[in-house]
Amino acid sequence: MSFKKLIPDFVFSDVCRIDPGFFADNGIRYLISDVDNTLATYSESVPSADVAAWLSAVTATGVTVALISNNGRERVNEFNKGLGYSVRFRAGKPFTKGLKSLMKELGAAPEDTCVLGDQLFTDVLCAHRAGVRCVLVDSIDVSGRPFLRFKKRLEAVIMRRHGRSV
Ligand SMILES: [Mg+2]
Repeated sequence: MSFKKLIPDFVFSDVCRIDPGFFADNGIRYLISDVDNTLATYSESVPSADVAAWLSAVTATGVTVALISNNGRERVNEFNKGLGYSVRFRAGKPFTKGLKSLMKELGAAPEDTCVLGDQLFTDVLCAHRAGVRCVLVDSIDVSGRPFLRFKKRLEAVIMRRHGRSV
């Protein structure tokens, strides 16, 4: 596997630091976002006020937002209750079946689409396998999850060796 597929196209510290116009300015019409540790911690069942405001600011620029998660139906539907986006739960990232079926439902072409996520080995790899750009944000909270912390350290090594500085 090429390491290039693991390197995100854009990197930000957290979603609220991304200018809501960033996606439209980069020719992105469909933003497909991961949920856990990208938009919310595992313990937050709904988006924070800041994240909800950011999401509606993004949609106000004409970008269609959708959610893709490897987590289950209950988690994703509860999170989406006040949002009403198209979703895929148990998406099986980094495999692309869930992402591709969601893009098909949206009518989204790869060049118009961007994935937003916090993990190289699931979100970024899934996006790039489907020919879609990816924005990486820092995981919101990895405390109490030693395997996730280990993965984040491994990701940091890959990013340092193969990433570009952003
Ligand atoms: Mg995540």
